[in-house]
Amino acid sequence: MAAKKRILIAASEVVPFAKTGGLADVIGALPKELKKLGHDVRVILPYYQMAKKCKSKITDTGETVIVEISDKLVQGKIYTSTIADVPVYLIGNDSYYDRPELYRTSEGDYPDNAERFIFFSKAILEVLKQQKFQPDIIHCNDWQTGLVPVLLKVKEKDNPFFANTTTLFTIHNLAYQGLFWHLDMPLTNLPWDVFNPDGIEFYGKINLMKAGIVFADFLSTVSKKYSQEIQTPEFGCGLEGVLKTRAQDLYGIINGVDYDVWNPEVDSCIKARFSQKDLSGKKVCREDLLAQFKLKDKEGTAVIGIISRLTNQKGFDLIANKIDDIMKLNVILIILGTGDDKYHDLFKKLAKQYPDKIGVKLGFDNVLAHKIEAGSDFFLMPSNYEPCGLNQMYSMKYGTIPIVRATGGLDDTVKNYTAKTGKGNGFKFKVYTVDAMMKKIKEALDIFANPKDWDTVMKNAMSENFSWMTVAKEYVKLYDTAIEKKRLRLIN
Ligand code: ADP
Repeated sequence: MAAKKRILIAASEVVPFAKTGGLADVIGALPKELKKLGHDVRVILPYYQMAKKCKSKITDTGETVIVEISDKLVQGKIYTSTIADVPVYLIGNDSYYDRPELYRTSEGDYPDNAERFIFFSKAILEVLKQQKFQPDIIHCNDWQTGLVPVLLKVKEKDNPFFANTTTLFTIHNLAYQGLFWHLDMPLTNLPWDVFNPDGIEFYGKINLMKAGIVFADFLSTVSKKYSQEIQTPEFGCGLEGVLKTRAQDLYGIINGVDYDVWNPEVDSCIKARFSQKDLSGKKVCREDLLAQFKLKDKEGTAVIGIISRLTNQKGFDLIANKIDDIMKLNVILIILGTGDDKYHDLFKKLAKQYPDKIGVKLGFDNVLAHKIEAGSDFFLMPSNYEPCGLNQMYSMKYGTIPIVRATGGLDDTVKNYTAKTGKGNGFKFKVYTVDAMMKKIKEALDIFANPKDWDTVMKNAMSENFSWMTVAKEYVKLYDTAIEKKRLRLIN
C-alpha cells in the first residue's frame, strides 16, 4: 500500500448530514473507501439546520474557532460526527447555517452566500490548526470551498503548519460558480491584488469557482468527457479559457455508486429486495410504486422514472416540448423533483391533464427516489449537460434501463444497446433535439417489447460495477502526484 496520507475533504453538502444533489452522495461515499485503503481521511462541512435534523449522532465538542470576516471576528463552533468510521467536523454558526435550506429559498439565493461560504472556507483552515491536523492534501469541492486554495497560497503562504499541504479542487458542476459583487472582497481579508483577471475576478465580480480553478494545485472533474467539454465555449460557462490554461493539471474521474445504499439486494427503502438472479421483487416494487401514485398497471406498459432537480440542465424543455407525443406511447411517467417554478407549474398541469399516465411528486423525497429506481423499467435523463450523473448508474443496478443524452458522465457510463450485438447497458442519443430523444425512446420501447432483448439489456445493466473502491484508488493516485510535486517543491 502507498504511504498513509492525511486527507481533508471539504464540501458544502455531505450524505447523511445535508443533501441537495449528487455532490452530497459523492462526499458521503468517497471518504469511506479512502479509509478502507488505510488513509487518515476526515470530512468537513457546515452545520446546517438539515444536519441538526439528520439521524446521525452529532456531538458538540465545546471547542470554537475565531474567523476574521472583514473587521468582525466571527465564532465557529466545532461539532463532530462520523460517516462509518470517518471523522467528520461540522462548523456551526447559527446565523449563517440555521436556515431551512442550504443555499436558497424559492425567492432566490440567500443574499449573504458570499459571507456564509467565505466564513466556511476560512473556518476550515482554523479548524485544522485548532485540531492540529496537518493534511497532506485538502480536497476541495465546488465554489463553496473555492477560496481555500487562495487562502493557502496567499494568507497562509509562510505558515509552516501548511508547508506540506497541497490542494485538489474538484468541479462537480461548472454552471454554479459562486459569483458575487466586488464589494464583498473585504469579507475575504485578502489583498485586492488577487482581484484581477488572472486571479479571482470574473468580469468585475468575485468568482469563487474561478478562485479554486486558478489557485488549486490540481483540478479534477467528475467524468473524463466533462473534463474535455468544460474546455469548450459550449460547456465552459465562460471559464473555458482559464481551464484550458490549466489543462495539464485537470483530470476526469468518474463518480462511483455507494452499493451499501443504492442496491436492490439490500435497499431498506423498497418494498421487496431483488437481484439479477431473482427478479421477482422488482415486480412487487413496480406495483408498490404505481400504488403510491394511484396509477393502474397495464400489460406491456413501460414505467419511465425521473428523479431530478427541475432545471433546464436536465433536459426538461425537450420533455415539455414532446409530452403529448410521449403520452401517445404505451408508457407511464413518474416524476420526482424540485426546482424551477416553471417546471413545478408544468408538471402540476400535466399530472391533471394525464391522470392515468403521469405521477408527479414535487419535493425532495429520498425513500421515493429509491422506490422509483426499483419500480421503473426505464430512467429518463435527457440532460443538456451532465458532469457525471448518478441516477443512470443507480438505475442500472436496479435493472432500470437509462435513456440518456450522450453528454458528460452519461456518455462515459451508458453504452447504447443494439439487438444486433446484444451489447450495451442503456440507450443514448447524441444531439440535443426533441426528435433525437423521441427516436431513442421509441427504440427503447421496441426492445422492451421483446423479452429476449429486454432480458439481455437488463442483465448487461445489472452486471455493471461502478464501485467507489475503483474510483477511490484513482483519487489516491492523483493525491500522490500532487503530494510528490509539493515534496519536490515543483509547486509552491
Ligand atoms: P445533480 O447533482 O446534478 O442534481 P446527480 O444525478 O449527480 O444530479 O445526483 C442527484 C442526486 O440527488 C441523486 O442521488 C438523486 O437521487 C437525488 N435527487 C435529486 N432530486 C431528488 C428529489 N427530488 N428527491 C430525492 N432525491 C433526489
